[in-house]
Amino acid sequence: MKKFPGSKGLVFNEDLLINQSSKGLSGISMPSNNLSGAHISKTAKDYIDAKFLRNEKSSPLLLPEVSESTAVRHFTRLSSWNICVDTAFYPLGSCTMKYNPKINETIASLNNIRNLHPMLPAGYIQPILKIIYEFNRLLCGLTGLDEFTFNPQAGAAGEFTGMKIIKKYFEVKNEKRNIVLIPDSSHGTNPASSYIAGFTPVEIKTFFADKPADIKNKSKGYIDINELKKYINKDVAAIMITNPNTFGLFEKNIREAAELMHKNGSLVYMDGANFNAFIGNCRVSDFGVDILHLNLHKTFSTPHGGGGPGSGPVGVKDFLKEFLPVPYISADRQAANKKQAANDEQGYYYELKNKREYSIGRISSFYGNFAVILRAYSYLLSLGRQNISKISEIAILNANYMKKKLKDTFIESDPFPEELCMHECVLNDNVFQSEGISTLDFAKSIIDYGFHPPTIYFPKNIHGAIMIEPTETESIKTMDSFIDAMKEIKKKGNKYGSKSPKNTKTGRVNEVLANKNPIFK
Ligand SMILES: *Cc1c(COP(=O)(O)O)cnc(C)c1O
Repeated sequence: MKKFPGSKGLVFNEDLLINQSSKGLSGISMPSNNLSGAHISKTAKDYIDAKFLRNEKSSPLLLPEVSESTAVRHFTRLSSWNICVDTAFYPLGSCTMKYNPKINETIASLNNIRNLHPMLPAGYIQPILKIIYEFNRLLCGLTGLDEFTFNPQAGAAGEFTGMKIIKKYFEVKNEKRNIVLIPDSSHGTNPASSYIAGFTPVEIKTFFADKPADIKNKSKGYIDINELKKYINKDVAAIMITNPNTFGLFEKNIREAAELMHKNGSLVYMDGANFNAFIGNCRVSDFGVDILHLNLHKTFSTPHGGGGPGSGPVGVKDFLKEFLPVPYISADRQAANKKQAANDEQGYYYELKNKREYSIGRISSFYGNFAVILRAYSYLLSLGRQNISKISEIAILNANYMKKKLKDTFIESDPFPEELCMHECVLNDNVFQSEGISTLDFAKSIIDYGFHPPTIYFPKNIHGAIMIEPTETESIKTMDSFIDAMKEIKKKGNKYGSKSPKNTKTGRVNEVLANKNPIFK
């Protein structure tokens, strides 16, 4: 019998912390207050207007009172109920759940970094500003763009920032353009971000299958240039292209699409969240991109951390620099002379600047998530110049390895059987359906084998989609084990699938109910 990691084991039960509370218990012992003086004997009540104070009797504070060991065990046990990149293979498509190197954590927890305060004046934090400045230069080198901002704290926030920049750009040019073209191969956040920034998103079809059965014959998956031409007019501000797209394919028509847009006076935005598919091997400026976001919490190995904190830096071509958000970091030799503070080998003095001619303003507090930027910088430096291109080479190799290995059993599920994929491969549910297994059943079943499920039901235009991204940090052994599990689930059929997961602490939950009727206690 094949051996899978599996998920049977010691699972502790854990009551709510509030139910473990005993009055008077505490995790810390404060020293007794033996100071004297009028201002010390005062409490918060003496300073805050009575109308803002909580009434101790009518609304007592419902905080658990527990010992330190109870608190530590509680949160450690809770953390063991979940799957994470440090415990299991996590092939969540379009998310790049790759391994987070521990060297990044070591660097980020250095004493003089951990204790930084964001309000420290520039003179005290020259090395910190220098790290951000140099990382900016590295990203410019890798993308061919001219400047990045690190203010956006997620990929979607980067998209929003990019759209605001495009909006402002046309305002300054005094052109009224309100449409952003978005191929249906784009990430779901693209139409949302453009809409919130005040544009009207217009969908361009790349995928012409009517029924799942037609997919094999009719699939395209790329921007159809003739189709695109129908939508180009003077109202179009930009096109937003996800590349690699959500079918896991390299958008091979991006340059031609970009030329058409530029001829029309429109801009080209690229969603580069999954830059691990090309980093070190091609530069987006070479395919006509004016503005781009990257996800440090994907390509650059920083943790996703349950939805944050992340970082979605936005890079632009020269002509858009003055539109970037503030603050930004300047490196100046003259300032260094004036302040006699050139402690930098290049003679630079680094400063946070708040003025840019057409800046869209602030989009986050301070300067984004510095600890995330630092981890990403550490990742690049620890790889070194000669290894960076291996990120994308192995990401693509791994995804194609899985695609190829799944072919014998799942060929009928591959919408793009003739194509090489990029960092991820996408299947539809044809094969599982023939065994009476839904995509959801499959996703729940694979948990019992000790794996996190792939992304499911996205992209929407692939019927019952299963999107697998092994990432560049997984071994052949792990991928083989996952492939065997997929095949075994198919073999076991509906009876197993519809009842899974069986080995987890909690079985199949009604996810809709939990959303509609959340119970917080
Ligand atoms: C993940 C992802 C996003 C959104 O990034 P967040 O950090 O989750 O906001 C956008 N586009 C693509 C292609 C992605 O994979």
